[in-house]
Amino acid sequence: MPQTSIFSEASQRLEEAAKHVTISEDTIERLKYPKASLTVSVPVRMDSGELKIFQGYRVRYNDMRGPTKGGIRYHPSVNLEEVKTLAFWMTFKCAVLNLPFGGAKGGITVDAKKLSRFELEHLSRRYIDAIADFIGPDVDIPAPDMYTNQMIMGWMMHEYSVIQRRQVPAVITGKPVAMGGSLGREAATSQGAYDVMQALLGKLNGSPKNTTVAIQGFGNAAAPLAEMLYNAGFKVVAVSDSKGAIYAKQGLNIPSVKKFKEDTSGLKAVYCENSVCGFQEHDVLTNEEMLELPVDLLIPAAIEDVITDDNAGRIKARLIFEVANGPVTPEADEILERKGIRVVPDILVNAGGVTVSYFEWVQNRAGYYWTLEEVNSRLHQKMTEESQRIWAIHESKNVSLRTAAYIHALRRIEEAINVRGTKEYFGEKE
Ligand code: NAD
Repeated sequence: MPQTSIFSEASQRLEEAAKHVTISEDTIERLKYPKASLTVSVPVRMDSGELKIFQGYRVRYNDMRGPTKGGIRYHPSVNLEEVKTLAFWMTFKCAVLNLPFGGAKGGITVDAKKLSRFELEHLSRRYIDAIADFIGPDVDIPAPDMYTNQMIMGWMMHEYSVIQRRQVPAVITGKPVAMGGSLGREAATSQGAYDVMQALLGKLNGSPKNTTVAIQGFGNAAAPLAEMLYNAGFKVVAVSDSKGAIYAKQGLNIPSVKKFKEDTSGLKAVYCENSVCGFQEHDVLTNEEMLELPVDLLIPAAIEDVITDDNAGRIKARLIFEVANGPVTPEADEILERKGIRVVPDILVNAGGVTVSYFEWVQNRAGYYWTLEEVNSRLHQKMTEESQRIWAIHESKNVSLRTAAYIHALRRIEEAINVRGTKEYFGEKE
């Protein structure tokens, strides 16, 4: 059987949405191709003295709604196809939230965990040197993604400012607060996902009490969310990282898990090698087993393509909230829909990160900084309004929440394309 590419899977979502709205051929044609893709070699002098060349990428997918925006991922499996797909998703995500941005993404093929701090800093600075002509506060604005963080964004902003011979904080978001970062950015993806849950859970007949949750991934996007859910009374029964999962039927004590993860940088240490076992019984599962637990709410928050046609038939959750980008394949979507399992899509659920990145960019350009309360209340308002709009499309058109989110984004992108002139305008005059 021919292997479907991740990009063609992503395009299927666009094609599905386009069936339910009148969209011009121009819009569909535009959205089939990225605006520009850059592949760079990133030379780094390693601590051993050896020179190593890493492959880096930046894709600006579509800038019809404004400068492009999207994170930078460090992962051994990063490749141009993946970066292009992530940039495509960013185009729709920014439109879902009505942010004045198009979509982009970047990445380096690297196992960042194997680098020393010095090597990581060199790699990050050399990557910015390599892509400096491709980005800019009015052109393309990067941010963190998997295995990149605040400190790396700070190095990158500093490097870009050195190249430009002036301070340019608005070139990158997700920076440390002391370098022009926004309050609330670190937990923004989690906070936004939590806002979407609050907006939709009532409609989906759920309430925190008695709702069991399993979360795949325990990084920037998932760990604060696990704690928010725990504090709100949800029963978080399982969490995982790349090494495996821990499961406790009666519910995990998330603050303790978080502390152990921070102290030891691995859930593995929680498994039993130290005192957490003393106060909480739990089972150790593989990531695959964890996804199939009989929970109310399943939150994939790590990597793409973890729910596929292979395992979708065995998923027992009632509801899936996609915090990761692209965790459910289109084939799996169909199986889940037949089983009555609803999927709340990534381009809505995890859009809190880019929304507060937008707030950070606005604050950098204004030179005026907001309080945490202001950030969170504006985020809450945006996430709630757009969730409700998507819910209304889901009901009125009788389509999945994913298709509803794509329809919502497509209408906004189409408007930006059409105001530049359509085929009819430029067509033959009588
Ligand atoms: P991160 O690097 O902080 O954390 C990733 C987590 O996933 C870690 O706990 C890691 O151990 C786990 N993981 C890695 N490979 C795994 C595997 N094969 N199986 C199970 N777990 C695995 O990254 P993050 O920023 O939390 O990003 C996670 C997802 O959320 C990605 O899909 C990212 O694109 C998406 N996302 C993140 C943000 C953000 O602001 N951080 C915003 C939007 C979307």
